[in-house]
Amino acid sequence: MRVYDLLLDRNGNQNWWPARTRDEVIIGAILTQSVAWGNVEKALAALAGEGILSLKDIHFTAPEILAPLLRPSLYYNQKAMRLKAFAAFAEQACGFNLDRLFAQGLPVLRAKLLAIKGLGPETVDSILLYAGGFPVFVVDAYAKRLLLRLGHPVAALDYHQLQTYISNRVPKDLALYKDFHAQIVRHCKGFCKKAPLCSGCPLSAVCPSSLS
Ligand code: SF4
Repeated sequence: MRVYDLLLDRNGNQNWWPARTRDEVIIGAILTQSVAWGNVEKALAALAGEGILSLKDIHFTAPEILAPLLRPSLYYNQKAMRLKAFAAFAEQACGFNLDRLFAQGLPVLRAKLLAIKGLGPETVDSILLYAGGFPVFVVDAYAKRLLLRLGHPVAALDYHQLQTYISNRVPKDLALYKDFHAQIVRHCKGFCKKAPLCSGCPLSAVCPSSLS
């Protein structure tokens, strides 16, 4: 929590996820796989330009129409199929009623989402946290890099082990989980990069790897 407090002091609340609807959170979470958010914004704008704003819209849009609109997000044919797969799941599971979808218990729903082709744990947990309102900590390569540099022995941990490691050390609070993940992403893009920029880092006072 000392790490979070320092990041919050420096950056303020990040108000994630940057989306107007839960459908848009889900669509963005799938599109952001392996690309920067700026690419996703361009693809979302292209979809919006064609009036494709929801999972239902995606379900009724042919792949050959959908895929070119996703070109800015790279791997666009693959991402079109992943969006179609999620939309088909949403149609079958809840008739596109996300209140019904997210009323399911977390373990059951998480398993169902992980069974959708192309969705890994990071994407699924982003959807559960930011669209579903479940307090699950989203783990990514940024979180692992930061923890290692802060001296935590997490090198050998897989996704779920790392998630448990963090969850055991951070109070289970939805707003905190939403913002902590956002703070880590921002921090690792700005300071704790592959080659860290420790000068001016808000965590330098508590970081054993600090070069400043
Ligand atoms: S002091 Fe350097 S290594 Fe430590 S968190 Fe900041 S940028 Fe990363």
